[in-house]
Amino acid sequence: MHVRYSYLPQQFENCEDLWQDLRKFVSTGDFTLGKELEKFEQSFADLMGTKFAIGVNSGTDAIKLSLRALGIGPEDEVITAANTFVATVGAICEIGAKPVFVDCDDTFCMDTVQIESAITAKTKAIVPVHFTGYMTNMEDVMRIAAINNLVVVEDACQSILGEFNGKKAGTWGQTGAFSLHPLKNLNVWSDGGIIVTDNPKVDEKLRLLRNHGLIDRDNVEILGYNSRLDTLQAVVGNWLIPQTENIAAKRISNAKHYDEGLGEIPGISIPPRPNNYKIVYHLYIVFADQRDALLDYCHKSDIEAKVHYPIPIYRQNALSTLGHKYGDFPVTDRHAESVISFPCDQHLSTEEINYTIEVVKRFYG
Ligand SMILES: *Cc1c(COP(=O)(O)O)cnc(C)c1O
Repeated sequence: MHVRYSYLPQQFENCEDLWQDLRKFVSTGDFTLGKELEKFEQSFADLMGTKFAIGVNSGTDAIKLSLRALGIGPEDEVITAANTFVATVGAICEIGAKPVFVDCDDTFCMDTVQIESAITAKTKAIVPVHFTGYMTNMEDVMRIAAINNLVVVEDACQSILGEFNGKKAGTWGQTGAFSLHPLKNLNVWSDGGIIVTDNPKVDEKLRLLRNHGLIDRDNVEILGYNSRLDTLQAVVGNWLIPQTENIAAKRISNAKHYDEGLGEIPGISIPPRPNNYKIVYHLYIVFADQRDALLDYCHKSDIEAKVHYPIPIYRQNALSTLGHKYGDFPVTDRHAESVISFPCDQHLSTEEINYTIEVVKRFYG
């Protein structure tokens, strides 16, 4: 049996109604900002339970524009997770700020106990990353931020509809940043991102920043960016948004099935699954003994297993000027050597999950 990682061809196999929406949209010529985008922003805000949602051109820009709207800039230090995807760090560096890393724990999110020792006189913000669809302990983050007068931008790109203590990812901080990239749980046909906030001033600033700082056709209030969410992609988003809850539910039930099967195998260890977390499994990851050999065995058995990520961002060449070395963030390092990801998406079949469990069982003999 072949177990593929990408489900995109399946996801858009039967979408004749979306093609009809797109045809109708193209005939309007309403290609920048406009009605379909407003509709998508309203639906997204409703889904999250926030006052505002602002479409931008990527998840990376959702973080970058958030930080700028909150007054973060050159010389400022921004605390984030040592094990995140490059985009979080890229967004911080693009505005001239300096990323300061905190190690994660076995939930793949920042170990909040270690935040306070990373704070200096220059620290202005925390960007917790709800990595893999888990949640950072946001009660700790918000408490520490309030005491130290820091702003919080949540990188919720991997955790749409995730929750901690019953409150959604992206709704804790001053803003929450989401990606609509094809590989994310709510995915459009190109790059895209969206920011949520409850603060009307931040909403207004973000709308300026994403559209060159133009208040109207003739007046430039501040210098911004060309970072609008394509209206065409908003049409795709409007088609997808009613499916978002089901997508999360299907991923959660797939993960449960994996946990039950893989949890019995010596050599595999399942990350903690605390009751007060709603984990939405953008990635389904377990810890494996002899990880590289297992990965190889899965590939030979036609299962597209992956590793997120073999080289942590904090040790990448691009960040060598920060002066970090192997061992600075030991949990992140241990994860890089022991994690394996299996497909967990809404189009995966029970047979594919069972076959994957079978192959892993066979590997450990
Ligand atoms: C995908 C992702 C981003 C950035 O999203 P893009 O839309 O690709 O720019 C940021 N942070 C994390 C953790 C991500 O997974």
